[in-house]
Amino acid sequence: MKVTEHLKKGKGKTLFSFEIIPPKKGNHIQDLYDNIDLLMEFNPPFIDVTTSREEYVYIEKQGLLDRKITRMRPGTVGICAAIKHKYDVDTVPHVLCGGFTKEETEYLLVDCHYLGIENVMALRGDAMSHQKYFEATNGGHQYATQLVQQIKDLNKGKYLHDVIEANHNADFCIGVAGYPEKHLESPSLKSDLKRLKEKVDAGADYVVTQMFFDNQKYFDFVKSAREIGINVPIIPGIKPLAVQRHLQLLPQVFKIDLPEPLITEVEKCKSNTEVRQVGVEWAIQQSKELLEAGVPLLHYYSMGKSTNIKAIAEAVF
Ligand code: FAD
Repeated sequence: MKVTEHLKKGKGKTLFSFEIIPPKKGNHIQDLYDNIDLLMEFNPPFIDVTTSREEYVYIEKQGLLDRKITRMRPGTVGICAAIKHKYDVDTVPHVLCGGFTKEETEYLLVDCHYLGIENVMALRGDAMSHQKYFEATNGGHQYATQLVQQIKDLNKGKYLHDVIEANHNADFCIGVAGYPEKHLESPSLKSDLKRLKEKVDAGADYVVTQMFFDNQKYFDFVKSAREIGINVPIIPGIKPLAVQRHLQLLPQVFKIDLPEPLITEVEKCKSNTEVRQVGVEWAIQQSKELLEAGVPLLHYYSMGKSTNIKAIAEAVF
């Protein structure tokens, strides 16, 4: 079922969902299942599976460093199919511009369609670690809007190059990313919102936000989005802080602010176990307030470990 249909079926009740990352190459999928098992009692209507783009790894060869290009966490679509099959739950693969040609994306979407996957998150992806700015892959898209357009075309039976007599079309429901504190490359929040509107105008059906730790940022974002005519559901993304290092890492990587009271509480912690507890308590308060405000769904970033998400869900749902 489509994400938007799940939201409608929820009839105003706030639903629970989460995002997982595929295991690293060579790791067993059971670890992932163990983490999903913990969260299934909260009845997620869908589970998101992230995609990692290719990266460089350096291997020592006869005293010299050899650079190889590889994908450390492959298999997003396969993992979506495995989860769907095992838990009978909808899955949402993240589809990236970066690292994929348009043709590869088309094949990936055709595979999703055959597997009964009805939703995709359309994302640009980040620059590779050696790049300062994102550069489109040769033959790939520069912006998520173009990817949304490609998926919409496919929904109409319009393939990239082939003139074919399509007798059955895909009908993907498309999610896109939104940034309550603006995307890190964007010159202003207003300009970033205009870009979000372009994604929605191109056919995106819903938005999932980047993590935020101050709910007011989300409320203001939704208000501004509605004012410029973005009328699709805007799902808040919540990440519980888990380690002391997040105080520096999250602002550095995502250009988001952390509220003073949260910083103060984390700074008082003597271990990461204590930080994890502070993170859980903060996310519970955030979730309760968002639930009270009537958000359609609370979406959690599990980052592969779900004991903290379980503790939050137990307190909120
Ligand atoms: P876009 O919407 O293309 O925007 C990127 C930047 O370009 C923005 O600054 C925007 O304002 C600007 N822009 C857009 N259109 C134009 C235009 N026409 N002209 C000029 N500027 C323009 N990353 C992964 O690698 N894997 C994942 O699985 C993943 N999942 C994510 C899930 C969520 C919910 C979120 C919020 C992010 C996720 N990301 C993921 C991170 C995402 O890929 C990065 O934030 C990326 O830098 C931007 O992606 P986007 O789809 O928002 O890009």
